[in-house]
Amino acid sequence: MKALLFQGVESVSYGSIPDPQIIEQTDAIVKVKQCAICGSDLHPYHGREKGLDHNTAMGHEFVGEVVELGNKTSGLSNGDKVMSPFTTNCGDCYYCNIGLTARCIKSQLFGWLDNGVGLQGGQAEYVRVPDASSTLHKIPEGVSWEEGLLLGDVFSTGYYSAYQAEILPGGTYVVIGCGPVGLMAVIGALELGAEEVIAIDTIPERLMKAREFGAEVIDFQSEDPLGTILDRTEGRGADAVMEAVGQTRAARMAVDLVRPGGIISTVGVCTDEHLTFSPIEAYDKNLTFKMGRCSARHFMEKLIPVVQEKKYDISSILTHRMSLSEGVEGYKIFSSKTNNCLKVVLEP
Ligand code: NAD
Ligand code: ZN
Repeated sequence: MKALLFQGVESVSYGSIPDPQIIEQTDAIVKVKQCAICGSDLHPYHGREKGLDHNTAMGHEFVGEVVELGNKTSGLSNGDKVMSPFTTNCGDCYYCNIGLTARCIKSQLFGWLDNGVGLQGGQAEYVRVPDASSTLHKIPEGVSWEEGLLLGDVFSTGYYSAYQAEILPGGTYVVIGCGPVGLMAVIGALELGAEEVIAIDTIPERLMKAREFGAEVIDFQSEDPLGTILDRTEGRGADAVMEAVGQTRAARMAVDLVRPGGIISTVGVCTDEHLTFSPIEAYDKNLTFKMGRCSARHFMEKLIPVVQEKKYDISSILTHRMSLSEGVEGYKIFSSKTNNCLKVVLEP
């Protein structure tokens, strides 16, 4: 089959690898209808995250049709249209039972093979899905392929970031980073009752999108976010800051912007060795710092009614629709954040 294959720093190729096979009887094979490139794919692409084997099929955001099932699966049939979280989950362990599906004891991340161990990704014609019955979710009525694709990661992750921020009406909330995840955090915060959301970035079309979704915006290159946030909060700072960048600089900004007793909810994946705030700074701010991988399988189910309501045009962040064979170019455009690109969706 054809797939987008990792070849090293800033290098992805469109090439062939063997078709996936059922390995465990709990597996399914999904024929990919659409897949997307994520900010998380950029960490190995730019060489910030190490350990990914060359020739691994990239990607963890995909939707498609079930074409083969192991004999220990249930609740799925060939031909079902399915969406998938970006990690697998067994549905049965301690973590799955408390909704922390991202930390399932059998969890595997799609598109990550390290020394031959792991799972091929979804930027391919077909993908093997372990623990298919508990990982996959049938795409319900009123949810499009594209919305299913976004539920599998960025919509769930953005919403999770807002959920962790413990939004209350009347508060001042900040989202750092207006990539796909940050934009979905804006929507998540509004959906959870925020009345004032301020989104920070510097790319004009991303700021425009944040405004369109209901945030006020700050371009951090031309305006000092700290001065503005302090002015608006009688000098206190934001009640919570959602960080959706994944750089120490952004985490640092979050610490500066949050008020004493406030919450930082970080979903950005920071590959640096250390964060740049001290224990005493955290102590002096009575800071609550939350971070981690989104339990997308848990949140995608919660968010189905929000998607069905069509209150937000989440698919409008999919600015570039290309064929899988054009994926190498897709990586170039998405990673350089040029051509007004917010997010790339690919079809095999
Ligand atoms: P992206 O690269 O498209 O977006 C990042 C945005 O941050 C860009 O618009 C960029 O201009 C902006 N930015 C950079 N530095 C900034 C700064 N100092 N202040 C404000 N804005 C700044 O990526 P994305 O797809 O939106 O993903 C964002 C992050 O979320 C990535 O680190 C990704 O790995 C992570 N992520 C985490 C999870 C999870 O489960 N926790 C899931 C998906 C993605
Ligand atoms: Zn992703």
